[in-house]
Amino acid sequence: MKNLATAMVLIALADIAIATSPDLQVSPAAARSTTAGPTENFVGRVEVERLYTPPVAAADERTSVGSVTFAAGARTAWHTHPRGQTLIVTSGVGRVQRWDGQVQEIRPGDVVRIPADVKHWHGAAPDSTMTHTAVTEVHDGSTVTWLEQVSDAQYSVRPPSPTPAQPTRAQQLMGDIAPKLAELTDEVLFGDIWERPGLSKRDRSLVTISALVAMNRPDQLRSHIALGRQHGLTQPEIVEAITQLAFYAGWPSAVTGATVAKEIFLPKPAAPAGIR
Ligand code: MN
Repeated sequence: MKNLATAMVLIALADIAIATSPDLQVSPAAARSTTAGPTENFVGRVEVERLYTPPVAAADERTSVGSVTFAAGARTAWHTHPRGQTLIVTSGVGRVQRWDGQVQEIRPGDVVRIPADVKHWHGAAPDSTMTHTAVTEVHDGSTVTWLEQVSDAQYSVRPPSPTPAQPTRAQQLMGDIAPKLAELTDEVLFGDIWERPGLSKRDRSLVTISALVAMNRPDQLRSHIALGRQHGLTQPEIVEAITQLAFYAGWPSAVTGATVAKEIFLPKPAAPAGIR
């Protein structure tokens, strides 16, 4: 009985603790508005959406988060952040540069860390909008020190072009003999069809492997089993698919598929030295 009474007191205390600790907040997207970036700190059309700004009273909160959209050609003035800043590019193509540094192109998914007190600017490319989420720490009530504008001459410096991409598998395989087929393979098949969001890459690989087994196409199957592994398919899953397919596609096709899978999953060990 005594234990029960103690337990009830503890539950009551826990309820009080829950009731008095601040609740979490959800800020609905529709409830937020954007403000224009002021002309003294920005060039061009810039919209700032405050995602979270710590209340002045919350002295222990330091992180301010905003989403900033720059129209083509728009950018910040030069500035510094007392505790640095992290930018996460969410759409478009942008530019970022530190003082005395090279202009760099930034794209969706890129994350830029700007150290404390490093003079820099960020903005859109001349021919594209750019949106980034900015995470900035407050220090002594401030997140930024604004400096002079980025001049047109400074802005017009082009970022170095990225290192040329390695030739794709299709280009290596048939670029010299059938360049259009290589281009269609890269741009239509892998650039469009394979990038459609309706199936995961893993599931798409399973569909492709199944079709290639059914059609008895060992050359393409070899590449697609390797690709399927990159997309997360395991050896037992691929072997199981081949086994199932024997009943739908015919025993010979499944055996060819199993032979290709064996080449990939159980490569022949190198011949010991001395054996010719
Ligand atoms: Mn900044």
